[in-house]
Amino acid sequence: MFSKILIANRGEIACRVAATARRMGIATVAVYSDADALAAHVQACDEGVRLGPAPARDSYLRGDLIIAAALAMGAQAIHPGYGFLSENADFADACAAAGLVFIGPPATAIRAMGSKSAAKSLMQGAAVPLVPGYHGQRQEPGFLREQADRIGYPVLLKASAGGGGKGMRIVEQGADFDAALSSCQREAQASFGDDQVLVEKYLTRPRHIEIQVFADSHGHCIYLFERDCSVQRRHQKVLEEAPAPGMSGERRAAMGAAAIAAAQAVGYVGAGTVEFIANQDGSFYFMEMNTRLQVEHPVTEMITGQDLVEWQLRVAAGEPLPLQQHQLQINGHAIEARVYAENPEKGFLPSIGSLVHLRTAHAVSFQVHGADPGQPAAIRIDAGVREGDAISPFYDPMIAKLIVWGADRAGALRNMARALAQYQVVGLATNIAFLQRLVSGHAFANADLDTGLIERHRETLLPAPGAPLPDTLAVAVASLLQQQAQARTADPWSHTDGWRAHGRLHRTLVFTDEAGNHEVELAYAGGDRHHTLRVGGQSHVLQLDSMRGSDVELRLDGRVLQATVVRHDELLHVFDAHGHSRLRLLDPLAHAADGEAGDDRLTAPMPGKIVAILTAKGAHVERGAPMLIMEAMKMEHTIAAPAAGVIDELLYAVGDQVREGARLLDFRPD
Ligand code: ADP
Ligand code: ADP
Ligand code: MG
Repeated sequence: MFSKILIANRGEIACRVAATARRMGIATVAVYSDADALAAHVQACDEGVRLGPAPARDSYLRGDLIIAAALAMGAQAIHPGYGFLSENADFADACAAAGLVFIGPPATAIRAMGSKSAAKSLMQGAAVPLVPGYHGQRQEPGFLREQADRIGYPVLLKASAGGGGKGMRIVEQGADFDAALSSCQREAQASFGDDQVLVEKYLTRPRHIEIQVFADSHGHCIYLFERDCSVQRRHQKVLEEAPAPGMSGERRAAMGAAAIAAAQAVGYVGAGTVEFIANQDGSFYFMEMNTRLQVEHPVTEMITGQDLVEWQLRVAAGEPLPLQQHQLQINGHAIEARVYAENPEKGFLPSIGSLVHLRTAHAVSFQVHGADPGQPAAIRIDAGVREGDAISPFYDPMIAKLIVWGADRAGALRNMARALAQYQVVGLATNIAFLQRLVSGHAFANADLDTGLIERHRETLLPAPGAPLPDTLAVAVASLLQQQAQARTADPWSHTDGWRAHGRLHRTLVFTDEAGNHEVELAYAGGDRHHTLRVGGQSHVLQLDSMRGSDVELRLDGRVLQATVVRHDELLHVFDAHGHSRLRLLDPLAHAADGEAGDDRLTAPMPGKIVAILTAKGAHVERGAPMLIMEAMKMEHTIAAPAAGVIDELLYAVGDQVREGARLLDFRPD
């Protein structure tokens, strides 16, 4: 076994690999960019080496620097994690040339599966079922369009070198083909440096079911069952679970055999995932093989009791697989939710900022077992960030993976609901409330799964904001009263006259949020005595019990309410039984809000680069017309016209880098 490895990654996966290495007595070397000098993954390792500036191409993608660091630090092997260099065959070759073990499959296997097109040709030879499509070399737009016409719409365009759903475009009809093709090619070129595409029949209501395979260098290859990753947005996984609901033993064995055939066709060694797209009738087709550890590998660890990183290290060191196929069993059910810094209400746009406040349920991290050896933990959180850390525009905006286990699916779902309810983040937008609605919605709860689930339930998953409940307003008022009692100093919340000890005892507080203004009349009794609150015509008795740090306890009409209240950027963040509410106390003395409605839609939502301008100075556009495309955080974002109007000025050119909030063009509505 190795005595020292270098972990060529960051965030949760680097922390997770470090934890297993530590348990196995293997020393670890972290690498980091300037954005990550103080990051959790650097602290999780024994030693660290700086690579370079924050952008990945100057740091985590610099294979030469990483290999030099491994040699300088005396590591024998490199674990690439996922993303970055994990599926880079040239890097695997360079490791071998430097005398280092690449903890992953042979470069030949990565190359064979690296192109979705070439992989499909190989699978055809191995008799693995394929989705109807065109995956050949010819790339002329006219020819590809003919192929799409032949396959029949809807078709899906994919970047052959793709991953993470990037570049993928659904084409509903021939007329849309050319625009979708150039957009797919542009994103493919920008993300992967390769604009080859393939065309596939777009299946309706399919499920994404993937098989975890593992092979060693002694000719053994087994599968560790399946994961259902059907719940996706923008072709990216949001929830993953194992086993797949409704999977029969027979189907599992058939998919397992197909996955093993796929792996063996390329001489696979190590951990890999064969992804299938499955129809509701159970028929399944090969999509691609991911030649690395998968983001969602923990659900497999939870149901098998195996540490897949330990398996990777053993196999890379030349040991045989720790278990044989018949020794593996499925124990219970596990679900993973990807907790992202993103804004589901704004098309899942990534959100950047600091984790000003971060609190979670009691959980284990990076462990396969819970407190009871042999028993999975009910809640596991794999995170690479701590309170105070930032989510930067340079890397994937994932905050953490929340993984739960239960004796059955219903038990796992209960643990997921509980863990999400206790997940508190202030400082940036997250998908936590969205995940809560997703896991409690009837479709997911009843395992009525397909890749269109989120899109189909959009309205319930992304409801119009509702007014806060009286309980929540009472918590907000209680926290203000507490703050007032604790600090009688100059305070933006206390300079209105109602708070003065000798001022009026009655006062109307107006809280505002996306749902509007919410009035609370407070008859203030002084100190912690019984105050009277009037909300929506109803009177309530409010008594403050305690406030420790950000935790508030109060009684409303005798009922005990417990909540956490965090003040940040003029907002009160209330976490209570009803979720996370963001309330602003309207200061009657302040000037009216100065924002111009709609204007924010003409500014850059995040730092990025202008990749296309679809309009011209002086042009007249209709409402919703795409005007400009930016690329940021590895995705394209379209800036559309907020109304019909005229473009007065374009303020940037293609290729320009823009900062967050930059005004992109001058627009005059009709
Ligand atoms: P999965 O393992 O579920 O197939 P994806 O294919 O979405 O996941 O990609 C795996 C992960 O790798 C992503 O969630 C992202 O964190 C990371 N990743 C993908 N592409 C890049 C990239 N170019 N640079 C950095 N990280 C990346
Ligand atoms: P990536 O490399 O980005 O992971 P995949 O080929 O694995 O690309 O596809 C990602 C997702 O896109 C799948 O999980 C599925 O939801 C959807 N998808 C892929 N191919 C098809 C198809 N032919 N029909 C319908 N949906 C598909
Ligand atoms: Mg995939």
